[in-house]
Amino acid sequence: MTQHVLSPWRTGIKCVCPHCGRGKLFKGFLEFNLRCDQCDTRFDNSGSGDGPAFFVMFAIAILITPPVLVTQIVFDPSVWVQTLVWGPVILAGSVGLLRPFKATLFALEAQHRPKPVDTIPKHEIL
Ligand SMILES: [Zn+2]
Repeated sequence: MTQHVLSPWRTGIKCVCPHCGRGKLFKGFLEFNLRCDQCDTRFDNSGSGDGPAFFVMFAIAILITPPVLVTQIVFDPSVWVQTLVWGPVILAGSVGLLRPFKATLFALEAQHRPKPVDTIPKHEIL
């Protein structure tokens, strides 16, 4: 049996079910639905924990540090100007990236999670 495998990156960015690619993954901002409304896949078994927040902090730090340094070197603004300019950018970027990062980590986890033994067809078991 050939199984169609969806890209975890694509389903993560779209925040949709990693199994069918159609059902909504979230019911709130960061809270998963219990099951997919299209294919009935369970979403309540995610183990990513604080992983998405860590990766978002890391990505934002890498993306924001160069323009902050260039701004400081070229324009030499005061600290409060830097805070007023970059604070909202950092906040918006962090909030904006958290949901797709969480969905992508869940999709990667779902793709690499071992199947329960009783769901594997006998011809696939060696
Ligand atoms: Zn689904």
